[in-house]
Amino acid sequence: MSKLYVPARTALAACLLSCLPLQAKQPTHPPQWSYQGPQGPARWAELDAGFEACAIGRHQSPIDMRGARPAELPELGFGYGSLSASIVDNGHTVQIDVPPGQRLQVGERRYELLQFHFHTPSEERIEGKAWPMVAHLVHRDAEGRLGVVAVLLQAGRAGSGFDAVLSRLPRREGKTPTPADFSLDLQTLLPRQRGYYDFEGSLTTPPCAEGVHWMVMREPVEVLPRSIAAFRRLYPANARPVQPLNGREVRVSR
Ligand SMILES: [Zn+2]
Repeated sequence: MSKLYVPARTALAACLLSCLPLQAKQPTHPPQWSYQGPQGPARWAELDAGFEACAIGRHQSPIDMRGARPAELPELGFGYGSLSASIVDNGHTVQIDVPPGQRLQVGERRYELLQFHFHTPSEERIEGKAWPMVAHLVHRDAEGRLGVVAVLLQAGRAGSGFDAVLSRLPRREGKTPTPADFSLDLQTLLPRQRGYYDFEGSLTTPPCAEGVHWMVMREPVEVLPRSIAAFRRLYPANARPVQPLNGREVRVSR
């Protein structure tokens, strides 16, 4: 009898998850993923059906930008100002959520900045070289298309707004960042030179959705060594490995 009973119970359990409309409205826990071990990048697609692009996508990010073609790329028109920022630790990185009104014009496309966050080491590589960190400034246009500006970070002098963010991180893992808002001028996150690399890619975290316009600033921004150390105390390594180009073209500002 038990052989009959067990499959029936399994079928019922499966149905409770998918057959009852009420069940679908219950809060769900998003699948866990990480940067190491059995839930690491090589396994992301196995963790959830919605993550399959992480394995089968043909235009994935990050990439190693090699042999980029010099081109007349549209200017990056940063309409950034100051804002009152607060830091969120989402378990994969620390992130600053940005209120509406911070704009980026790229040719005909008008983006709004949604948030920015960090990875160490940089996910992007240029001719094989990685940087100590990268900041991803995630934008969206009116049609829902994402445009991410990547700012490579290297150890150096003070002066960038990234120090203002990273100096507020907690000293030890497990502590939450200082909740107090602080004033941040977003222009201080950008390098002086506005040349950039341009390619089509994806989110670098699950669900690895494609159709993302990547703009990687060619000039890195300097941050204090202690800012890099502060981030690495929380997240020692949170970079997805580089993905195959699969025939994509990488362009770079002339
Ligand atoms: Zn990112």
